[in-house]
Amino acid sequence: MIIGIIGGGQLGLMMAEAAHQLNHTVYGLDPNPNCPLSKKADTMITANYNDKKAFKQLVNSTDVLTYEFENVDLTLIEKYTTKIPQKAKALKKSKHRLIEKNYARKLHIPIPSYKQYTSKEDLFIPAIIKTTTGGYDGKGQYIIQSKKDIDQININLKNDYIIEELVAFDYEISCIATRDNYQTINYQPIPKNRHKNGILHISDLTEKIPETIAQKARDYTKKLINDLDYVGTLAVEFFVKGQAVIFNEFAPRPHNSGHYSIEGSTTSQFTNHILAITNEKSKKPTMINPTAMLNILGQDMVLAEKSNVLSNTYTHLYFKDDIRKNRKMGHITIVSKDKQYVQDTLQELIEEIQ
Ligand code: AMP
Repeated sequence: MIIGIIGGGQLGLMMAEAAHQLNHTVYGLDPNPNCPLSKKADTMITANYNDKKAFKQLVNSTDVLTYEFENVDLTLIEKYTTKIPQKAKALKKSKHRLIEKNYARKLHIPIPSYKQYTSKEDLFIPAIIKTTTGGYDGKGQYIIQSKKDIDQININLKNDYIIEELVAFDYEISCIATRDNYQTINYQPIPKNRHKNGILHISDLTEKIPETIAQKARDYTKKLINDLDYVGTLAVEFFVKGQAVIFNEFAPRPHNSGHYSIEGSTTSQFTNHILAITNEKSKKPTMINPTAMLNILGQDMVLAEKSNVLSNTYTHLYFKDDIRKNRKMGHITIVSKDKQYVQDTLQELIEEIQ
């Protein structure tokens, strides 16, 4: 098949790698001619995501379309939704934090308390204020621990904000699921995720999370993915506090916290995404050996050199032309039969950048 990928970032790149392994052809659409996907796609269309002519060209020259990030043009996705198995509903709900939280509440999925933030009258403490749209990797987020904090931050009330209870979670997890056209949902093993400055730092699968917690995460994810009538891979992030599994957000696409699955699972999140959108049956992924993943940000490029001399590590670089602070440049996955080796190697890499 010819698969069109809207968005040329690292997720598009890794989707293309999986698509090629399954003998598909990949066409990409991105405004940057040197985007990561351009290194792997068979053909690239260089245009903005809202360029109607370019979008139509992609639709007409491919068998199926997928989007790899949320900032695509919703009206165009809606217009061509019959060709896009992920469909538009998931995008509509996840693009706006208030709509997303209202939706999770409607589905009876536990969420932190929240409301729209329009003035200081709406303030409660401790809380986190977030822009409702466009914020990612901790951007547009402000932690409020005391009343004084609100005066220190630069909020432009012309934008839309949401204020959420700051959850004192024990740890964070993500549930990555693939739903196909054969009534099957397959779940990846659930990682514990650690963030640094709001950006995913580590996904750790060396210690299994309790099955009761994992089952709740899968149940909530199932509710969402079925209600969205979504086909493809989708990720849901949760906070875990005691026995409570609390929804944070979802992403209608493969997710950074599932990158470990390329080497750590029998079927990766990308392979399952491609299988599902090409109308094949997705596969049940299992983890054979203890695994952990560490992101390489712009300021941490030294990690790539370091990991090259370590065994049982797999280094992925995304071919980004501009190395910037806090920009995701690549990731490293450590897989070994020896759990202690994975934990020690992860620690060695973390210490390299402290
Ligand atoms: P988000 O962009 O919403 O995924 O937020 C990025 C990270 O900020 C999360 O993974 C958490 O580590 C932290 N965070 C976001 N919302 C909350 C919250 N309501 N309570 C505590 N931490 C949060």
